Amino acid sequence: QAKASGKGRHNFYAAEMTRREERRLELESALRQTVEDGGFEVHYQPKADLRTGAISGFEALVRWTHPQFGAVSPADFIPIAEEMHLVERIDMLVLGKACRQGRIWREAGHDITMAVNLSGGDFRDGNLPETIAAVLAVTGFPAECLELEITETFVLDLEQQQRQVLDALKKLEIRLAIDDFGTGYSSLSYLKCLPVDTLKIDRSFVRDLARDSRDMMLVGSIIGIAHSLGLKVVAEGIEEADQKAILITQECDEMQGYFLAKPMPPDQANIFLMRHALDAGDAA
Ligand code: C2E
Ligand code: MG
Ligand code: MG
Ligand code: MG
Repeated sequence: QAKASGKGRHNFYAAEMTRREERRLELESALRQTVEDGGFEVHYQPKADLRTGAISGFEALVRWTHPQFGAVSPADFIPIAEEMHLVERIDMLVLGKACRQGRIWREAGHDITMAVNLSGGDFRDGNLPETIAAVLAVTGFPAECLELEITETFVLDLEQQQRQVLDALKKLEIRLAIDDFGTGYSSLSYLKCLPVDTLKIDRSFVRDLARDSRDMMLVGSIIGIAHSLGLKVVAEGIEEADQKAILITQECDEMQGYFLAKPMPPDQANIFLMRHALDAGDAA
């Protein structure tokens, strides 16, 4: 009897495995097709200056809606795209759309920056700086208003060739931000030898900021060190007024999070931007 149930369990796991593999294969082929069609959307999440309240810029975040699976989170499909060596093309698609949108907003008189996420795979292309320079030229978006976000974990095991790509991007006057800062269990020493402009403090440090005095001290120290190195600090994932208030007293530079706004499709982000500009005008 024990043998039978053991076998049954084995069959159950085998069936479960097959289902997962099937879904994965379906996802992979759908992903490949969507890359061919360029069928991704980009949503924009604003950042605000904590001193003035002005909208300083947006982060472009890729969105994928699958006809069967519905909305698939980038946290799920970007790692698959990395394995499939498709992430390079997705990121350049997002970059193109984001720069085009950014130029439209800047031409409408909004002094905003645009941030785009890169992943490790993008650096496989030794011509990344040339590719990005071409996108900037075609879209007419100024290099110094573009910020590229790379994760701390990627920065930690940077190879010589990738380091040269970062330096080349810096020469173009593009800004570099370290994303999800604090999750890499790193020493801070790499900050002084990399051409980085901005630290984005990971959401996990912000979540309990108003309740956990250790998080408060950690975040305060990170901001202090970053400022002493001449870096700008953005706090991610602000959802409550209390978190914002603490970050203001800690002299954090900018905030991003649902408290300000969720990532929005372009038309909605546009309305958000216009409304904010009007409010600022009223205050002046
Ligand atoms: P990220 O770059 O750290 O982006 C921040 C993520 O946190 C976004 O999730 C955003 O929607 C979410 N978020 C922002 N504010 C809040 C908040 O107040 N509360 C909570 N709970 N969440 C908040 P999203 O859009 O699902 O993206 C997840 C990750 O996927 C990104 O993390 C980034 O690493 C990656 N990603 C997104 N778009 C791209 C892309 O175009 N290229 C690459 N390579 N990676 C991307
Ligand atoms: Mg990011
Ligand atoms: Mg982040
Ligand atoms: Mg993150």
